[in-house]
Amino acid sequence: MSKPFASANDLSEKTETLEILADGVYALTAEGDPNIGAIEGEDFIVAIEARATPLAARGWLKKLREHTDKPVRYLILTHYHAVRVLGASAFDAQEIITSAATHKLMEERGKEDWDSEFGRMPRLFKNPDEIPGLTAPTLTFEKEMRIELGGDRGHLELKFCGRGHTAGDIVVWYPKTKVLFAGDLVEAEAALYTGDAFHMDWASDTLDTIKAFQAEALIGGRGAVVKGRAAVDAAVEQTREFLIGMQNNVKAVHARGGTLKEAFEATHEALAPKFGQWPIFEHCLPFNVQRLWDEYDEIDWPRIWTMERDREVWAELQG
Ligand SMILES: [Zn+2]
Repeated sequence: MSKPFASANDLSEKTETLEILADGVYALTAEGDPNIGAIEGEDFIVAIEARATPLAARGWLKKLREHTDKPVRYLILTHYHAVRVLGASAFDAQEIITSAATHKLMEERGKEDWDSEFGRMPRLFKNPDEIPGLTAPTLTFEKEMRIELGGDRGHLELKFCGRGHTAGDIVVWYPKTKVLFAGDLVEAEAALYTGDAFHMDWASDTLDTIKAFQAEALIGGRGAVVKGRAAVDAAVEQTREFLIGMQNNVKAVHARGGTLKEAFEATHEALAPKFGQWPIFEHCLPFNVQRLWDEYDEIDWPRIWTMERDREVWAELQG
């Protein structure tokens, strides 16, 4: 029997938890749905991620407004994926910040990604008609950017750590509190989505750079807030283990001239015992294996996912 497409049948609302991790540091997690956050400056807010639609974003802002009424000066988007950016208009931010590579990806494939993610995760797109169009940054940077928070709040470091979950992911590091917002580069007991990824870079230098922050708390793309040095390192290494497990299995089948379907089945069998119960594991794995297969075919720049290609790969691997 074929499995229901991606997360199309996942219609149950998740419980949201807002945590204050340090003075002025907010993280909202939701049982494996995309995480979001905010950091208070002296007289403004820095928001991190925007959710899939303005209505979904307003649900988050309403919770944040119970703690602070400062205006949003900066909205930081860690990468281009639709479920994290299309709610941007709700923030009335002065500036929307991404890496230069993310800006390029938004222009190149923003519309296709919107359609693809809508099909894969319809529950996250609350009142999609309200989305004004594609999100575009007003400020971009190549490697690093600094935001002064004012007063005695210190500063934020925005950093491109190397290619990983996409070609353009950035992290947000708050040195004063040792809190790291890692976007989808690290997941906390949620499956990795690697359909647009650079697996080899991600599993090596990029994760090493993230680990070197030595964060005391980490907010990944999905899953609970990770607290404590040991737990942060464990989350980074779990992410690496997932990536290397996929690489070992797909590479072996590719090298012996096997098929994509065989690579998928070998990877599924190897990873399911440890990771199979994590959110979106079944959803992600076909797209992940296809992208990794492409990398072993020496396709460097990820192919664009469209609704049609999503369905074809699903039918071939999960059908
Ligand atoms: Zn993502």
